[in-house]
Amino acid sequence: MSSTVESSTPSKVDVLVIGAGPAGLTCALGLAKAGVNVRIVDHSPTKVQSGHADGVMPRTIEVLQSHGLADALLKDANQVYTISNYNYEADVGIKCAGRVTMINEPTARYPFAATQNQGVMEGILGDALLKEGAVIERPVRPTAIDLSTDENELKDPDAYPIKVRVKKLNEEEAAEELVHAKYVVGADGAHSWVRRALNVPMEGEQTAHVWAAIDFTPTPDSNFPDWRNIATVNAKDVGIMLIPREGGKIRLYVELGSEDGLVNAESGRLDSAQFSPDRLLEIAKKAFAPFVLKTTPENVEWWTVYVIGQRVASTFSVKDRVFIAGDACHTHSPKGGQGMNVSINDAHNLAWKLAYTIRGWAELIAFDKWFAEGFSAKARAKLIAEGNNVDLPGPLEAFRAFSSVTTGIRIRYAPSIITATAPDKTDENGPYTLTVGKRLPPQVVLRVADRRPVNVQDLCLSNGRFKLFVFTGDVLSADDIQSLNKLTTDLDALLSELPKGLLEVFSIIKAKDDAITYMDVPQTLRPHWTSIHFDGHASGPVYDAYGINREGALVVFRPDGYVGTITPLGEVELVRQYFRQFLK
Ligand SMILES: Cc1cc2nc3c(=O)[nH]c(=O)nc-3n(C[C@H](O)[C@H](O)[C@H](O)COP(=O)(O)OP(=O)(O)OC[C@H]3O[C@@H](n4cnc5c(N)ncnc54)[C@H](O)[C@@H]3O)c2cc1C
Repeated sequence: MSSTVESSTPSKVDVLVIGAGPAGLTCALGLAKAGVNVRIVDHSPTKVQSGHADGVMPRTIEVLQSHGLADALLKDANQVYTISNYNYEADVGIKCAGRVTMINEPTARYPFAATQNQGVMEGILGDALLKEGAVIERPVRPTAIDLSTDENELKDPDAYPIKVRVKKLNEEEAAEELVHAKYVVGADGAHSWVRRALNVPMEGEQTAHVWAAIDFTPTPDSNFPDWRNIATVNAKDVGIMLIPREGGKIRLYVELGSEDGLVNAESGRLDSAQFSPDRLLEIAKKAFAPFVLKTTPENVEWWTVYVIGQRVASTFSVKDRVFIAGDACHTHSPKGGQGMNVSINDAHNLAWKLAYTIRGWAELIAFDKWFAEGFSAKARAKLIAEGNNVDLPGPLEAFRAFSSVTTGIRIRYAPSIITATAPDKTDENGPYTLTVGKRLPPQVVLRVADRRPVNVQDLCLSNGRFKLFVFTGDVLSADDIQSLNKLTTDLDALLSELPKGLLEVFSIIKAKDDAITYMDVPQTLRPHWTSIHFDGHASGPVYDAYGINREGALVVFRPDGYVGTITPLGEVELVRQYFRQFLK
């Protein structure tokens, strides 16, 4: 399967993550927070310093928030609310054809795209990882990987069937270290070494698109009116997308064609000798006429030209032991702003499943069906790769039509053992209704102990645990709470059967009585004083929003914040059955 790795002074680790970009960092963070022994290596001496991916979509911000990191991202990021479209008209130049709201998802907690350079994202995730005690080892590169072919070893949860030789690149005579790993995650970008070492082919469109991107601060005399909105510009000879960036900067994406004289029409290859930021700005200057959009050399922060095929790896795992995630398994054009977002969401999904397998809590989850579970990263990647994306210069409707895909808000995992089709009393059509396989839409409840408003999403933190939300139904007085005794007995029994700490309990009472204190609630329903909440007011807006009636419900959320199952309030047995399907 690969070059032979000989033993020297071996070390052992549960998961070795190769690549500390957004995907690798998210995966390592999720694993570290779930208590898994993880190492992460990257061959680059530093994180990305500027440029690269730039757009963070609403669902990705929610995922960051589940790690307590949204504030850090939003502190300096730019927020994009509007998309404009400009088309070329003879004798006029480009002219505005309209503007639309960028995010049209009614349940989006963050109804905008945040733009910020990739290095900031990597810094935020890297700092969070450090707090969990994991250091990014760099510059370190794998030189060989060997995956056992012994089926018994591959099935043995205690075995370390992968040997990876890694080398420190900053020490001339540095010995290579031999790492024995239970699992390896290849998050090493579009040219993934891991993917190639294990001979995983890429599928999809072979035609390469050549993109140029340039980040700069426009001069004050620039007068393009939509420079603080995303603008798709369908100019005479070229399509350009403008992205407003943090700190008053902008990015221009220019899809280069042979007519630019920069790309050889036959080979599709860039003639790099012809290329420079000045050349790019010249193309833009012409395209934006009659408007002025210019800069000075010292205000150009970053530029790149990169060739991107829209492709997806044929498999995302080898023997359920080596996984590839992020750009390593799917590459996109930058138009839909998906690369970093899909990568982070992939890794968020992978981390908890890997953690449960390693901690011995779950039967081996069918990792090779990891994406087949539903409308997840692969499906999205395919959709985008198949051209179901915003075409540049795209009609504004395309943004609307695909906003459910690109924002990540409507991802729905199809039925599986972890997304159970237990009796679901909700109307699946309403955008505000809880649905098995979908994320928890944001709603504000009042914490009983201090009457403080809390967003329910902030109860579903990414800490590797399942969450059980007990919607108690109408509870009008402290006496009513006592009627929940049978429920609490059943729940106590369930909790005692599950691995300690696997399931966190939160309760939401429908009616609000100012006389009720958190101490009136049985201990099982409030393991901590922060676990018990009112549904705002007596009218119960949160229940209504989730389609839960006055009789209440039990809702289980997976560790990644997606609804695992919903049952009627008294049906603790159905919850038990849900967990029995995949827990040891
Ligand atoms: C030059 C460039 C420009 C880009 N520009 C844009 C853009 O303008 N807009 C946009 O949306 N997206 C852009 N992208 C894509 C975007 O960066 C990715 O979609 C996104 O970062 C995916 O995250 P990832 O973690 O999967 O991969 P990456 O961000 O590529 O991270 C991979 C990590 O693995 C490390 N690595 C690679 N090979 C090895 C190895 N053999 N051993 C150890 N470590 C390794 C790398 O140093 C890197 O830190 C660009 C990518 C590149 C490379």
